[in-house]
Amino acid sequence: MEKKYYTTIGLEIHAELKTNTKMFCSCKNDPDEEKPNVNICPVCMAHPGTLPVANKKAIENVIKVGLAINANIADFSEFDRKNYFYPDIPKGYQISQYKYPIVSGGHLAGLDITRIHLEEDTATSKHDKGDYSLVDYNRAGVPLMELVTEAHTFENPEDAAKAASVFAKEYQLLLWYLGVSEANMEKGEMRVEANVSISPDKDKKWNAYVEVKNLNSFKSVEKAIKYEVERMIDLFEEGKESEIVKETRGWDEMKQKTVSQRKKESSQDYRYFPDPDLPKMKLHEAFDLEEMKKNLSETPAQKRARYKNDYGIKDEDIEFYINNLLYSNFFELVVQNLKNDIETIKLASNYITSDIVGFVSAGGVLLPAWLQTSNENFAKLIVMLKENKLSSRAGKDILKIMCTEGGDPMQIAIEKDLLQKNDTGALTEIAQKIIDANEKVVVDYKAGKEAALMSLVGQMMKETKGSANPQIAKNLLIDLLK
Ligand code: ZN
Ligand code: MN
Repeated sequence: MEKKYYTTIGLEIHAELKTNTKMFCSCKNDPDEEKPNVNICPVCMAHPGTLPVANKKAIENVIKVGLAINANIADFSEFDRKNYFYPDIPKGYQISQYKYPIVSGGHLAGLDITRIHLEEDTATSKHDKGDYSLVDYNRAGVPLMELVTEAHTFENPEDAAKAASVFAKEYQLLLWYLGVSEANMEKGEMRVEANVSISPDKDKKWNAYVEVKNLNSFKSVEKAIKYEVERMIDLFEEGKESEIVKETRGWDEMKQKTVSQRKKESSQDYRYFPDPDLPKMKLHEAFDLEEMKKNLSETPAQKRARYKNDYGIKDEDIEFYINNLLYSNFFELVVQNLKNDIETIKLASNYITSDIVGFVSAGGVLLPAWLQTSNENFAKLIVMLKENKLSSRAGKDILKIMCTEGGDPMQIAIEKDLLQKNDTGALTEIAQKIIDANEKVVVDYKAGKEAALMSLVGQMMKETKGSANPQIAKNLLIDLLK
């Protein structure tokens, strides 16, 4: 039998903060600037004699994230120099945090958080120029928040990979909700790295772990971890565990495999020391943490709980709203028009997540304009459906008209003669007419064929252009056929 291996992972996630200016100078922080080297100044270009000034907004953003995950906000914090040489780091060191991160502890999406610290981003190197490289310093000095999770051990690689991508997704959502980062992975605004190791023994951690980089999507986070674990297991199985070394490997999306990039430095090599150019920080004095906590935006987790408690809708639909703020804002406006009736709210939600989403993906509705203007009419339509004034068929037809041309659902229903006919007198007449015209179907029904009855109901719906209440129509037919 094949041996069992445990997978241990730890995540490091860098996210660029959304601030007006860079971390230590007043240059614009503009991730969409395409012209190279325009948002630069002597400070972020490391000219001699220049001094950094910390961006308070960036520090506040990191504290917000800490508060949202119930972490400790350090009273004392400071910036350190992380020394290494590379063309994208003009000072020869990166200003980061070592011993005293702003945030420590906290939990998110099932993982324990070690710390969140603040640092500056590097410049962007362009190596695709043939025999030379170019460096764009627009990004140099942009505030960068680094989150590090504790190491977590899983029974199998699938669980580990899933936990990592679920965590990354939830963290991205949290950053959006708090408004602190765009966290777009394809644009490199959020960069996930996974430290991966395996061990045949649950309690004995293997020392050599591999840091997997270049994970540009949640899918690649999952695939890269699974691939890396399988690679390590194969080496173990072949008795080559000495070939599992501490190193950085990049995920190659084209080849669907990890490729060795460099053997990893230990933190000693960086010769961290406190940056003498920046003042020490007393965060509990500089920020009113109580007030910040009170004013914190709703987190995705809080919103999930609220939707579950207040609306009782399906988990799947809740998740849809959590990820689609345009729709959840629309849904909440609709709910305001529905007087807290849970069944009506659920009906509204079903029409939003199936019909409206369907029309939108078919190109029939222009979001967000439509969602902003039509919540009242949509709520009216839902109430009409709930009160059996419309069949669901008619409801869908009216919604389609509302989505393309707009309008009041009652007016549309009257114009198109779609109000449900619950009036048995008129319906009895139609039912009798249909019975008379369908001798053979009636014989089949009387011989015990249930399907024959549905065919008659269908004809009634057709005759009334869908406005008959199908249940009433069915009962009428049964009575008349007795
Ligand atoms: Zn600058
Ligand atoms: Mn970092």
